[in-house]
Amino acid sequence: MTVPTYEKLTPPRQGTRVTVDANGRWHIPDDPIICLLRGDGIGRDVGEAPGITTCAARVLDAAVEKAYGGKRRIHWFDIHAGDVAREMYFPNVKDEQVNALSEDQQRQLYLPDDTLKAFEYYSIGLKGPLTTPIGGGFRSINVYLRIRFDLYACVRPVRYFKGVEAPNKRANKVNMVIFRENTEDVYCGIEFKSGTEKAKRIIDLLREMGYTNVLPSAGIGIKPMSPEGSKRLIRMAIRYAIDKKLPSVTLMHKGNIMKFTEGAFKDWGYELARQEFAAQTISEDDVYKGGDAKGKVIVKDRIADSMFQQVQLRPDEYSVIATPNLNGDYLSDAAAALVGGIGLAAGANIGDRAAMFEATHGTAPKYTGKNMANPGAVLLSGVLLLEHMGWGEAANLVNHAVESTFAESEEIAQKGPGGKLFVTYDIARQFPGYGEKAGVSSSAFSERIIHHLHGG
Ligand code: NAP
Repeated sequence: MTVPTYEKLTPPRQGTRVTVDANGRWHIPDDPIICLLRGDGIGRDVGEAPGITTCAARVLDAAVEKAYGGKRRIHWFDIHAGDVAREMYFPNVKDEQVNALSEDQQRQLYLPDDTLKAFEYYSIGLKGPLTTPIGGGFRSINVYLRIRFDLYACVRPVRYFKGVEAPNKRANKVNMVIFRENTEDVYCGIEFKSGTEKAKRIIDLLREMGYTNVLPSAGIGIKPMSPEGSKRLIRMAIRYAIDKKLPSVTLMHKGNIMKFTEGAFKDWGYELARQEFAAQTISEDDVYKGGDAKGKVIVKDRIADSMFQQVQLRPDEYSVIATPNLNGDYLSDAAAALVGGIGLAAGANIGDRAAMFEATHGTAPKYTGKNMANPGAVLLSGVLLLEHMGWGEAANLVNHAVESTFAESEEIAQKGPGGKLFVTYDIARQFPGYGEKAGVSSSAFSERIIHHLHGG
């Protein structure tokens, strides 16, 4: 691939590009260049006040330094999207002019060609939150990136941190990673409005095929799911479970009703496990029949509605969940709610040739420039990035340091009001007798995590 030239970007002088070979293997040098989109709102730095992305990057750098003693180092490449990009590349375009622009021109406002070229070349990035574009044409930066770079797996780890108030009694047992298919199912957006010519044509076809119960006035949505699309997602989930020595992969589906889409997803999942991971996996059925699961990942399936109660009642029985798009959309947020703290919801969109790691919350604009939002979600997305690179030692260091930082403040709060906490406002206000004002700044919180990285 030729080295791109940019209108307004300057790649780092040092560092080496991450590459993916023809077999889909990622090659991570010891000095990788990683794209960094600091983001809008609480993501951006304002004057002396660092945004949450900067705070997170500082912790990640410290963890890498601590884990590898200088042998490894990330070289961040600042690239831009969202309002920040619009201000930088098109400062003179006014809001009232946006709707008159073509969809691609609107895309360039929020996702400039420079950014796309850089991400295409360097393949991997960490992203803060971005403002949703105004205007009707170009609707979503995230959806565009997913489609353009075929980031087919939306990966969401959900785990409990001691010291974070959680609504569920069994929250301390929650530690799961959800792999949600990102490109098929209802996310394809194939829909026809009630009463339109296209809807009528589909309804006529359905009637010809014998489906006479569809009213002529119906709106129509199509839910395509393929073996290739399902299997590549499930393959990623099984590989993850094997690499991390996790006990199970659960295929979540609504196959009792939607047999040829969701039911097929389940069947393709078992088929894949048999064909490609026979030595490392065993089905739950085979375990029931007396099969030996020792050292193997158990592949099981659950119907979507039952899955929602299972993650609340017996969360410790689920470690990796692979699911089609819409189920995954609902389950990711419901599972995150079990453990509390939106400031901690990490995520990633991963494909075979590119991966973008990102917080799942938004830009919380009222906190822009205040150095007070929780950098935890971006930081934990950075942990996923480290894991993806195979830098597990640094990832573990961050996880433990975050655990210690929350646990320490909880211990202080348990002694009664008035103690000095080391967490941001959103966590501080959960402790009885403490309010938002007891929280520390985003930068002080991240410095405390770094303090714990070094052993506290
Ligand atoms: P939001 O930005 O997620 O904020 C909603 C509330 O969640 C905040 O007011 C705050 O609660 C809490 N919150 C979010 N992030 C936090 C953090 N890091 N630390 C502590 N608290 C945090 O949702 P929104 O206000 O609906 O959306 C704002 C903008 O973000 C919109 O333009 C939206 O489209 C965009 N957005 C972007 C993404 C993305 O880029 N991935 C995702 C969602 C939304 P309190 O007020 O209770 O303190």
